[in-house]
Amino acid sequence: MIRVTENLKAVRETVRNAAKVAGRAPAEVGLLAVSKRHPVAAIQQAIDAGQCDFGENYVDEGVAKIRELARKSLVWHYIGALQSNKTRAVATHFDWVHTIDRPKIAQRLNDQRPADLGPLQVCIQVNIDNEPQKAGVSPEAAHPLAEIIERLPRLQLRGLMCLPATREHETDQRVPFRELCALQTAMSANYPSMDTLSMGMSGDLSAAIAEGSTLLRVGTAIFGPRP
Ligand SMILES: *Cc1c(COP(=O)(O)O)cnc(C)c1O
Repeated sequence: MIRVTENLKAVRETVRNAAKVAGRAPAEVGLLAVSKRHPVAAIQQAIDAGQCDFGENYVDEGVAKIRELARKSLVWHYIGALQSNKTRAVATHFDWVHTIDRPKIAQRLNDQRPADLGPLQVCIQVNIDNEPQKAGVSPEAAHPLAEIIERLPRLQLRGLMCLPATREHETDQRVPFRELCALQTAMSANYPSMDTLSMGMSGDLSAAIAEGSTLLRVGTAIFGPRP
């Protein structure tokens, strides 16, 4: 049995400390529990420990969990790669999408967002280290994509997301996060609804907090290794 309650407590403590070191208020740093590949029982433990925001990477798995936990008031974030044939399920069931990286996906999510739900909250994924195997737009391409999203009434542009390469030292790990933060600052002058920097995972959350993260995506440190 994974000790989700204890793990969550420890992660929150780490977040508090890192925020303090960075001179930031801990309340500025949100925590999304990444529950991909973990069972509903593990999510339930996190809910019992006060966790509300959850992240999933696979559409079918995520939708099944959302349905099973439908009566709780939770916030569900889609953080995986998104293919066109899965946009309707995401637009119908999730509250956020962190991984918008092309106009076609943005347009489909907009068109398929059910009328009885509020706008879908979205972030643009930026391939901050320009890694060929990773999704996301280049920093330069984030501006034109933001312009397209801004015109879609059923989407609300909330910010930027990145998944940088792993560095050995924290000083080096902070560099890509600093770059994303600078891009966000520049863009939010044009797009005032951009208030979210989705960055930092189990292995690099202190570096991300030091550089302005407002939403950490933490899986392993909360739920243990994925089965
Ligand atoms: C799996 C995943 C995470 C969580 O990673 P951990 O290292 O387990 O904390 C965060 N963000 C994305 C996009 C992921 O796919």
